[in-house]
Amino acid sequence: MHRALEKLYRSSLVYPPMQDVHDDPSLALRPTTAFVDLDALRRNLESLKTRVGSARILAIVKANAYGHGLVPVSRALLRFGADALGVAFLEEGIALRRAGIRAPVVVLGGIIGNQISHFLEYDLDITASSVFKLEQIEEVARSMDKRARIHLKVDTGMERIGMHWDTASPLFSAAVRSPHVEIAGVFSHLAHSDARSAEYTRLQLERFLEATSYFERESLPMPPRHLANSGAILQHPDTYFDMVRPGIALYGIYPSVEVARSVPLDPVLSLHTRVVYFKVVRAGSPVSYDGTWIPEEDTRVVTLPVGYGDGYSRGLSNRASVLIHGQHHPVVGRVTMDATMVDIGESSAYNGDEVVLLGRQGEASISCEELAELQGTIPYEVLTSLNTRVPRVYLEGGRPSRPAESTRAS
Ligand SMILES: *Cc1c(COP(=O)(O)O)cnc(C)c1O
Repeated sequence: MHRALEKLYRSSLVYPPMQDVHDDPSLALRPTTAFVDLDALRRNLESLKTRVGSARILAIVKANAYGHGLVPVSRALLRFGADALGVAFLEEGIALRRAGIRAPVVVLGGIIGNQISHFLEYDLDITASSVFKLEQIEEVARSMDKRARIHLKVDTGMERIGMHWDTASPLFSAAVRSPHVEIAGVFSHLAHSDARSAEYTRLQLERFLEATSYFERESLPMPPRHLANSGAILQHPDTYFDMVRPGIALYGIYPSVEVARSVPLDPVLSLHTRVVYFKVVRAGSPVSYDGTWIPEEDTRVVTLPVGYGDGYSRGLSNRASVLIHGQHHPVVGRVTMDATMVDIGESSAYNGDEVVLLGRQGEASISCEELAELQGTIPYEVLTSLNTRVPRVYLEGGRPSRPAESTRAS
């Protein structure tokens, strides 16, 4: 491995330094925990597989598997029948390889020239999004005497990366002429697939078909095509082609409020903590920074050891509720970095009582969609905001499983 990179990965600068602490069973830690229900993950994957028929599944695990934990979730998905993994960045792919995962890994983001040798060293599929980048890939692959697996990126209306659909032929012809690349796929990304209107997706699909007709016109074998993200899997069967790229749906969340719920999905992640402090707040006493909440009467307030420093957004201040003993209670005052206050009124709660911030408790539940709405964002951001300070516990068959035991590398 490249020496500088090796050093960087060994240092605590890159590898989450909290991980060693979280993994030490002899420590009694703060109780804030994200539970990841691998049974729900399996059901979601199976439902999506049923929906797409013969199309292969490129399971998207970028951004720490949407906050659920990159390596344990990737191992589980492969065990449950995913064909390949998709990430955004080189280092995410390297992390998968370093964990011993040998399945195909596609890095979907744009590349910088000096990253190419690492892609080849770690056997990661590269996105080729311009002729220049393709030439760089060919050159590095030749110098290393390797064959790079590439996916040709066509921009059909997202304006992120890729060659525009109507000028993509030079990219295709350059790829066909490059002896040190293997065309493992040609793909595009949909910008509105979870919308109620199919209009823009139709347009993008037509453009994709038009661009890839190049291979037919030139009597070349059609590379595996992939286009569908979660929204398209739910709404547009004509976008499935050879492989689909579900992300958010794997984690049990519909990509938008209006998307067709054509596949049953169960949320995978729930966020729990426990009461760490109880007190009576006197009428007129402001709670938390800036005194944004002041009770009119004496009331009972509990403090939770979780805050925006964990990814429980400050935008939830005075808006969200939490579940204690199966009842909703409002978050009051500003959410702080490490603590959140909750007004329980006349109810009782004791130090150590379980609190659900996201998920289900008894008959009551709080969804990722609700939290997203309250903080003015989308569920994707709620999930990916949960950071490394929150330990993840993986549940399988209803009980905690150590990812290393239950989810061996494929
Ligand atoms: C993130 C991403 C996906 C997955 O999108 P979801 O909406 O989470 O299903 C698929 N393809 C590409 C290129 C992506 O960047």
